[in-house]
Amino acid sequence: MAEVNRNFLKLASGYLFPEIARRTRAWQERNPSLEILRLGIGNTTEPLTKYIADAMHQEIDLLSRRDTYTGYGDEQGNESLRKALSEFYKREYGVIINPSDFFISDGAKSDAANIQEIFSSSSIVAVTDPSYPVYVDSNVAGGRTGEYNGINYDGFVYLKGRKENGFIPSPPDVHVDLIYLCSPNNPTGAVMTREQLKGFVDYALRERAVIIFDAAYSDYIREEGLPHTIYEIEGAERCAIEINSFSKNAGFTGVRLGWSIVPESLQSGNGEEGVVHRLWNRRQTTFFNGASNIAQAGGEAALSEKGRAECRSLVDYYLGNAKIIKEGLESIGILCYGGINSPYIWAECPRSMTSWQFFDFLLEKAHVVVTPGSGFGPAGEGFVRLSSYGHREDITRAVDAIKEHIND
Ligand SMILES: *Cc1c(COP(=O)(O)O)cnc(C)c1O
Repeated sequence: MAEVNRNFLKLASGYLFPEIARRTRAWQERNPSLEILRLGIGNTTEPLTKYIADAMHQEIDLLSRRDTYTGYGDEQGNESLRKALSEFYKREYGVIINPSDFFISDGAKSDAANIQEIFSSSSIVAVTDPSYPVYVDSNVAGGRTGEYNGINYDGFVYLKGRKENGFIPSPPDVHVDLIYLCSPNNPTGAVMTREQLKGFVDYALRERAVIIFDAAYSDYIREEGLPHTIYEIEGAERCAIEINSFSKNAGFTGVRLGWSIVPESLQSGNGEEGVVHRLWNRRQTTFFNGASNIAQAGGEAALSEKGRAECRSLVDYYLGNAKIIKEGLESIGILCYGGINSPYIWAECPRSMTSWQFFDFLLEKAHVVVTPGSGFGPAGEGFVRLSSYGHREDITRAVDAIKEHIND
């Protein structure tokens, strides 16, 4: 009898985005002539930029000729792209990482979900609350938790991000083996300082834990002195894996391209060097056949001087949207966090509304869809996440609608 993997059944507890879609659809059916304005989506909306798109066109031309056609590439990614990434880290962050420590992927989400496979199923996992759902769900599916208890999962160590700590939790006060961090954070928009990140690196070195650091929004950091990569912190090369992506800075959410850094110098729980690197290499070469060669050509272009300038203006555009949202909401007295080094604004629900109450209120009165904070974990209750991904004119209309109807 083919029994299902019971760990997956633990995930059954309501998923955020289908519920948002259900309520939005129901509203649209009741109001067929009205238009929905969206500030809820974490998906890019602006077109690919010229230099990067041209590089992908050229790659298609090469693939279309007999003498320049290529099939499968290295599972770890093209050597030229891994070199370009290594040079990029050195040039922009002053950090030395060997090209062979980079693993090119089809995006950060797969890596964030798959990385747990190479660690013991008995690992104790710390996640932040609120959190990007992938870290939680992949470890539930990996059997590292008990059941969902109606609030969260038994077995995780939750690091709570609250107003009082600026949504940056402190390292755990108990032993854990794996720690997931995301900075700039989705959903709160908070960015860890060097000191805060150092606290986690020191903890990991002391406890022989491994940090999985998601830097998908690193290009949104515009304030000086904030770390863009965990490897800016001394010792991180011995205890941290970094995950990143071209999705949010080059608009590759549909193109699909990311990378992970799993340093050869990373130590496993018993202090052995190289084993985590080797296992990830084994995992990827066995279960993954490499990222699209067209996407990789685009990625390499994105790391060039011209490509970096294009990515910067793309990110500037979304940060401009974020500013409009933040200033608009603050002008009507709503407390906002994030939105400066991040595309996300984490807004406190007014009049003591819960996340879903404020969601329903904004949908009914302003016809605006946001994301309820409680969907990212219990500590997100009382907040909503607003996203700057949208065309400028739609963002402006949505903000104006909220301003007009906030007292309805
Ligand atoms: C969008 C996002 C990613 C990027 O995922 P891709 O699979 O590369 O598109 C990774 N982490 C977080 C927290 C994100 O919000």
